[in-house]
Amino acid sequence: MVKGMHDILPKDQDWWESLFETGWSVAGLHDFNYIETPILETAALFEASVGAATDIVDKEMYVFKTKGGERVALRPENTASVMRSYLEHHLGYFSSPLKVFYCGPFFRYDKPQKGRYREFHQWGFEILGDGDAVYDVSIILAVLDFLWSLKFKDLTLKINAVGCRICRPTYRTKLKEYYRSRKSKLCKDCVKRYDNNVLRLLDCKEPGCLEIKKEAPIILNYLCSSCNNHFRAVLELIEDNDIPYEPDPHLVRGLDYYNKTVFEVFSSKLEGSALAGGGRYDYLSEIIGGRPMPAVGAAMGMERIIEAMQESGLVPTVKRKKKVFFIAIGEEAKKASLKFINELRRAGIRTLESLGRKSLKAQLKSADKHKAGLSVILGQKEIFEESVIIRDMKTGAQETVPVGKLVERVKKGLK
Ligand code: ATP
Ligand code: MG
Repeated sequence: MVKGMHDILPKDQDWWESLFETGWSVAGLHDFNYIETPILETAALFEASVGAATDIVDKEMYVFKTKGGERVALRPENTASVMRSYLEHHLGYFSSPLKVFYCGPFFRYDKPQKGRYREFHQWGFEILGDGDAVYDVSIILAVLDFLWSLKFKDLTLKINAVGCRICRPTYRTKLKEYYRSRKSKLCKDCVKRYDNNVLRLLDCKEPGCLEIKKEAPIILNYLCSSCNNHFRAVLELIEDNDIPYEPDPHLVRGLDYYNKTVFEVFSSKLEGSALAGGGRYDYLSEIIGGRPMPAVGAAMGMERIIEAMQESGLVPTVKRKKKVFFIAIGEEAKKASLKFINELRRAGIRTLESLGRKSLKAQLKSADKHKAGLSVILGQKEIFEESVIIRDMKTGAQETVPVGKLVERVKKGLK
């Protein structure tokens, strides 16, 4: 396998199904609609929007030339693609604001380690077309409802503002002043960031840089009145809605398109790696050639959520139907069994089998292994008598039932 990629195996189905089920349910309750964009986009889309001087684009993006000579990228994130799609299909015409969600694979040439893959999955929510603080908080609520539905109890919402075209330049100058005299103590990457993208200094995870960051100026002192009012409105709504939060005055995100609100969500069991991140991106539309249009969104890392659930001792939330195991003894019974199995399945009963095994003993063992509540046994004698045997797998009690009563009896037995 290619380094940094990973398989998702059948044994992990309950985890993934829990996330998908929760995601679709929360999306439905919050009225977000599904959108799916291609995995391949032009490299220029992300260079312009996420920013050429960000880690995601500069170091982590999979870029290559197609046979036709086009420079394309495996998508590292989805917000830029959603915005591209919005503009191409004039989606604002159908709904304003437009509320969409997505899930799927994303690619970043990161250093592979626990919780960090080169192919990983995100679930995201976006609201396009409205700049009101109510929508910043609607996105935060969708993310938290998702995570709370999975039974997380220890979440921290970290939140900050990153200003706008008017106030961010002042803050940038202040940061440069602060870091100028400390440049020799920064890591190699941060020395580059100092020149290219000084805000990114605040996002470095090197211990030395984290130490220097502690005393760095905070943006809240430099916000313009519009950004300040917006941030206050967001915090007020957060408090009104009893969302626990922690202001983090040094929080910036790894993408350039954010303005005003940014936030991340952490679980205490996975300190240092965010489960979700998001913010407002009012300039993105213009950056990629649209008219000015405010928008806000967030994305969650699905592998990270599963890992945090496991670390927290949480279990998959998916509720599976009780199952019955169908056993056939002898060739004739095996041939006849599919008809009965179909009948059970069409009646909504989850039906398993291991018809490839011959003996009753081996098939009963499979039934036990799969923790089936009941088995239905069909042999030569039963075919002749037009009956089946229903066996309670816990007690071993058996009952012969006419085939006409099969579905009814199995349903009763599984209750
Ligand atoms: P980090 O600071 O942890 O690198 P990020 O800021 O690069 O995260 P975002 O672009 O905000 O991440 O992506 C949203 C979420 O996707 C993250 O909070 C995380 O849960 C998940 N994620 C990001 N990169 C990876 C990765 N390489 N492997 C697995 N999950 C990831
Ligand atoms: Mg990253």
